[in-house]
Amino acid sequence: MADPILIIGAGINGLVAAADLAARGHKVRVLERGPTPGGAVRTEELTLPGFRHDVAAMNLSMFAGSAFMAKHGEEMAKHGMDFVPIDRPFAQAMEPGDYIGVSTDVEETLATFASEADKTTWRDLMQAFPARVGTIGGLLGTPMRRGALAKFLWKTWRGLGTAESLETARFLMTSPRDWLEDTFEDPRLRTALSTWGMHLDFAPDIAGGAIFPYLEAMGGQAMGMVIGKGGADAATKALVSMIEAHGGTVECNCEVEEILHAGGKVTGLRLAGETIKASTVFAGLAPKHLLRLIGRSGDARFDTGMKKFRHAPGTMMLHLALDGPVPWKAQELGKFAYVHVGRSIDTAARTYAQARAGLLPDTPLLVVGQPSVFDPTRAPDGKQTLWVQARVVPAEIAGDAKAEITATTWDEAKEPMTERILSLIEEQAPGLRGRILGAKAVSPLDLEAENPNLVGGDQICGSHHLTQNFLFRPLRGFADGSTPIKGLNMIGAACWPGAGTGAGSGFFAAETIK
Ligand SMILES: Cc1cc2nc3c(=O)[nH]c(=O)nc-3n(C[C@H](O)[C@H](O)[C@H](O)COP(=O)(O)OP(=O)(O)OC[C@H]3O[C@@H](n4cnc5c(N)ncnc54)[C@H](O)[C@@H]3O)c2cc1C
Repeated sequence: MADPILIIGAGINGLVAAADLAARGHKVRVLERGPTPGGAVRTEELTLPGFRHDVAAMNLSMFAGSAFMAKHGEEMAKHGMDFVPIDRPFAQAMEPGDYIGVSTDVEETLATFASEADKTTWRDLMQAFPARVGTIGGLLGTPMRRGALAKFLWKTWRGLGTAESLETARFLMTSPRDWLEDTFEDPRLRTALSTWGMHLDFAPDIAGGAIFPYLEAMGGQAMGMVIGKGGADAATKALVSMIEAHGGTVECNCEVEEILHAGGKVTGLRLAGETIKASTVFAGLAPKHLLRLIGRSGDARFDTGMKKFRHAPGTMMLHLALDGPVPWKAQELGKFAYVHVGRSIDTAARTYAQARAGLLPDTPLLVVGQPSVFDPTRAPDGKQTLWVQARVVPAEIAGDAKAEITATTWDEAKEPMTERILSLIEEQAPGLRGRILGAKAVSPLDLEAENPNLVGGDQICGSHHLTQNFLFRPLRGFADGSTPIKGLNMIGAACWPGAGTGAGSGFFAAETIK
């Protein structure tokens, strides 16, 4: 009998790859170092019993819209995959009491805009969205292999013509601020949309980031958002169940310590006290860890590229158990899945520069997730869970941009940063502190300690800046997930098409195995 296909890491890419392969009759074993599967897609009672918090990812829209779900959605539903649809995906809280909110009801969205010209532009963008998203979605769904890419480019050029194809290429290189300034006149609206760049590694002035505000604005308007019923781990549990139903295994507390190879071919994996033979391995690891496990690949350029792979600044998470809803000054904000707290595009740009310089930002941009408003199963009756991200923070602290926090280690800085975050939310929601029943702060280094792929708390496992995206993710010549070692494939957020729950790299890799 053939050796099983071994998959390192039970992150969403590893699980998706395993589920697709197992469903097609392959024998698979997923090996996970942590005590539970899921990686960044887990849900746990982090604060108090009965309060289920998404440890990392909360928004499962990318997973719901993934190629994997298009193929296996029906079977996943049988394994318990259940989404909660949300019709008010996001809002931006600016001057206290003022906000812009995107709802699937376009009139409701437009009622929060100040400019008549922007309302017209928004409608025009919506009209063009279905055609345009086909092209952009097609690109994100194309493996970076010569044949597939050539087919995509040919199809795009045939469909759009030269001028429109070049305009699309230009848009893909544009920064959030440039696109937003060219498109909208109200600075509030520009701010509200630019925030989506900050979810990744695209501060307002970084080339290549415009696509994210665009996709999230139009996607949010057209489709809203989805979260997992009971927690983001609904996806993880359904994937594990599907893998096991097809005879595969997901083995936790199994850290892979070495990837064995000889003569340019993978031969197996070494775990503590055990060696497993294999001729096909999928590794869902951050490049520096992949290199650590390989030793030398035999290709010096590959090894240097893995070593020099760039990570983005970190994230700090704050999970709260609340005695009731957030007392937003603008009460409507209580109806949105994400409330972004950040007053201007310039503040976001400054925050990014501060984090890159090693400074704790004076005004981090906050993503305040309110999952239990839409899914009451996540908290006891009448109570709420709150999921807060501070974007972006440095992994190594050189100082404080506000010159208030003297700590230079995260163990010491976590508490004062928590207070800074709470104060920023309280400006928008006076009295929040009085509703807190339990809290868990997670520093960027805590994130990394739990999942080594989140290097320095980098939630996207590697910057998506243009020089490390598309054909350059994770490295030129290896954007199809191949490595110099035959039989060893890279998957995970560090690989094209990058971070998020869409699990594109896991699915692409699985589909290469017939
Ligand atoms: C705080 C945070 C919030 C996020 N929010 C969202 C969101 O709302 N929506 C969204 O779409 N995306 C979000 N993301 C991004 C998204 O969750 C990730 O990009 C994605 O889940 C990464 O999946 P992955 O397959 O690369 O594996 P990972 O999630 O990185 O998992 C890798 C797994 O490999 C294991 N592992 C590592 N080394 C070894 C080893 N040597 N042996 C065995 N196992 C090993 C790890 O323990 C881990 O379980 C968020 C990420 C973070 C961190």
